[in-house]
Amino acid sequence: MPHESKPRLYATCDIGREALDRLRQSGYPVDVHPQPEAPPHEEILRQVRSGIIGLITTLRDPIDAEILKAGAGSLWVVAQDAVGLDNIDLDAATRFGIPVVHTPEVLTDATAEFALFLLGAVSRKIMASERLVRQGGWKLWHPYLPFLGDEVSGKTVGIVGLGRIGKSFALKCSGLGVDLVTHTRSPDLDFAESLQEIFELHGAIDFVQRRQTFSYVGLEECLRRADYLSLHVPLTEETRHLIDALALSRMKATAYLINTARGAVVDEQALCGALKEERIAGAALDVFSQEPLPQDSPLRDPSLEDRLLLTHHLGSGTYETRLSADAQRGMAGRCVQGVLDVLEGSWEQRWRYVANREALKRRRT
Ligand code: NAP
Repeated sequence: MPHESKPRLYATCDIGREALDRLRQSGYPVDVHPQPEAPPHEEILRQVRSGIIGLITTLRDPIDAEILKAGAGSLWVVAQDAVGLDNIDLDAATRFGIPVVHTPEVLTDATAEFALFLLGAVSRKIMASERLVRQGGWKLWHPYLPFLGDEVSGKTVGIVGLGRIGKSFALKCSGLGVDLVTHTRSPDLDFAESLQEIFELHGAIDFVQRRQTFSYVGLEECLRRADYLSLHVPLTEETRHLIDALALSRMKATAYLINTARGAVVDEQALCGALKEERIAGAALDVFSQEPLPQDSPLRDPSLEDRLLLTHHLGSGTYETRLSADAQRGMAGRCVQGVLDVLEGSWEQRWRYVANREALKRRRT
């Protein structure tokens, strides 16, 4: 890697000491933004203009064309400590020849299991029950008072976006004896076949009384048939407000929406309306169009509390997944490995986690 002066890197956030130390031990000093809050845009721009060769970012940093243009010729890699890249202008990065690496795979299971747990928690009203017990509202045992939940087993789960996390979520759900209706851009027929085999096995061992089904369908059919709809698409121009008022109106009044993808995939105003008017049964949201969720967000309406579960973008948030310095285990490890691969890996290694490979081709040295 040809660098003239001090090969310094800048991280907009402490993504994990152990992982960042791997860079330092490899001879790359890393300055870390000292506060837990994100640095302002001007500070990132200042750092890039100062000649850093690597910029480590998180999903809260808008990495726009101005920053990337400032890095043209000096910035060798942008490393995003996340799989989603909607905060980075990838086209500009490619134009200015800056490879962007990210952290696919290591967060797949953590995020998929979180989506499943949210689905269970909102459907079985676990948070409402917890509040009831803790606040002293549980006065008597009764078969149906003060409330009941909805059973998940045997229902139909809809999945929008059947990539890494969507597939893992489908596999985890399959153990609940549900049917799966999925909508995705590029259906994977091998995956469908594998699930059918699992379902056959479930039948053969009497795990379910009827044959579970898996199907790829259009979005409208997915919305119409799902008892639970879980979103696993990236945020793009195409998926922004994919779940809008019209989409919500196509869902069953008894259905639940689970969003662990990106907040702006759902029109939050429309969702509030649908919940208030009981046009859907409930929702669980881990992600929001503005994070942290503003104090005046309509999603905080107390009347929605028992049917709307809100978490703080915790989908990938396990100790192992967020912090492990092992590139095969954690986001921090994979993020720094991506940097090392681009800076000094063999030609094959350099490509591994690059999202805009065209940029790497342009920088071929
Ligand atoms: P992935 O493997 O790229 O899967 C995304 C899937 O969505 C792909 O199959 C893609 O199709 C499909 N898709 C894209 N646009 C679509 C559209 N308009 N309609 C239908 N399907 C569409 O990504 P992943 O690793 O599963 O991650 C998915 C997203 O989850 C990330 O982008 C991120 O925003 C979010 N996420 C959230 C958390 C959290 O903590 N809450 C953690 C990790 C990830 P193609 O195969 O044709 O591209």
